[in-house]
Amino acid sequence: MAMQITTGTSELRDITKMERIGAHSHIRGLGLDDRLEPRENSQGLVGQAKARKAAGMILKMVQEGRIAGRAMLFAGPPSTGKTAIALAMSQSLGPDVPFTMIAASEVFSLSMSKTEALTQAFRRSIGVRIKEESEIIEGEVVEIQIDRSISGATKTGKLTIKTTDMETIYDLGTKMIEALTKEKVLAGDVIMIDKTSGKISKLGRSFARSRDYDAMGADTKFVQCPEGEIQKRKEVVHTVTLHEIDVINSRTQGFLALFAGDTGEIKPELRNQINTKVSDWREEGKAEIVPGVLFIDEVHMLDIECFSFLNRALEGDLAPLVIMASNRGMSRIRGTKFRSPHGLPMDLLDRVLIVSTKPYSDDEVQQIIGIRCQEEDVKLSPEATQVLTSMALQTTLRYALNLISCAQVLARKRKSEEVQVEDLRRGYSYFMDDKRSVQWLKEQQGNLIS
Ligand code: ATP
Repeated sequence: MAMQITTGTSELRDITKMERIGAHSHIRGLGLDDRLEPRENSQGLVGQAKARKAAGMILKMVQEGRIAGRAMLFAGPPSTGKTAIALAMSQSLGPDVPFTMIAASEVFSLSMSKTEALTQAFRRSIGVRIKEESEIIEGEVVEIQIDRSISGATKTGKLTIKTTDMETIYDLGTKMIEALTKEKVLAGDVIMIDKTSGKISKLGRSFARSRDYDAMGADTKFVQCPEGEIQKRKEVVHTVTLHEIDVINSRTQGFLALFAGDTGEIKPELRNQINTKVSDWREEGKAEIVPGVLFIDEVHMLDIECFSFLNRALEGDLAPLVIMASNRGMSRIRGTKFRSPHGLPMDLLDRVLIVSTKPYSDDEVQQIIGIRCQEEDVKLSPEATQVLTSMALQTTLRYALNLISCAQVLARKRKSEEVQVEDLRRGYSYFMDDKRSVQWLKEQQGNLIS
């Protein structure tokens, strides 16, 4: 069956990128130096030196193509930067590298099977970078980047071509060189190319400003030469994920499902067709695969079937870098009666590189709070910074970071641009951290039951 595979628009990528703004928007990269040594406070990341260094080494293996079939696991207490470091890794890979974040429990949904949910997550994490040459619409003035070597030095500028004839545009590279040498064309000159003979003649600078220039219209082969020869035609590159291609081409779902996030199950035959098409594009040099990062949080929540799927999927040649995170030690492997480290079966653990994250020191917490305040444009008084630091140590870093914007709202209510200790105290009394919330429920249990 003949089928046309479409890739959608670059608009889609912008929308998926919006997911990244929020709790981790201050993270810009791993903050490592050339020797992969972590800087104390760099690119939004503070401390956690060993984990960052390990992450950097894994990235190097990824870039050298030496990580196939393996995955990575961050193991550490809550709020110790497991997600933040995973995100930093994906950023270090490049701006159009897809990063997908799922919580393991999302895989258990009524609308699709577990393996379908995981397949979608995998395909969301594989980018296809598609190269397209810009279309030239009839009568349009096309601008092309040019390059010219003038006594050894390369200058760049813009060349305006006024033609609808594609062949002329293809040929201009060589024609321009001829013109430059034979006719001694200078910047600002206008040249004319004879349609049949291909001969180039110089029309003089003033021609560009004359009425004739415009009057010659769209189908005349003439060129104004500002600085030199044409380097290449404008190329448009955009990256979409395999999942986006799947959804756009799925007859039952259609394009709008991407925005609704409700994509349902996608037929395996469709995926096979798309895989074949993408590999054709790769062979023709029209597309390249951009393996991204799939981050699976609270991975101990997956069950044995999901783990078997992961084991198999990691072997595939279209596998992203899979990073898992868990804050559990020994736990039961779901779907079995066995216990194992982080609730992962041994055959999967075998192929996983484990990196541990550790609780932060006072000073590190204070620096992270400082970075978040800058990111959210919040001014915190020195006393409030101290108080928020000790709150973070007693509760979790995430709780304290969430309190920053709440406290700012409270400060503004009393017409102050600076957050003071009293704003934090009020925020702390309105919003509970998990320990207090559990305690409160315990105390209320008697009342709620009776
Ligand atoms: P959980 O086990 O609960 O999922 P986690 O280990 O994934 O937690 P994160 O979500 O990465 O923790 O961290 C909590 C918050 O602290 C996030 O806003 C994150 O960006 C920030 N954060 C954590 N570690 C660092 C760090 N080293 N430098 C800067 N910000 C950090």
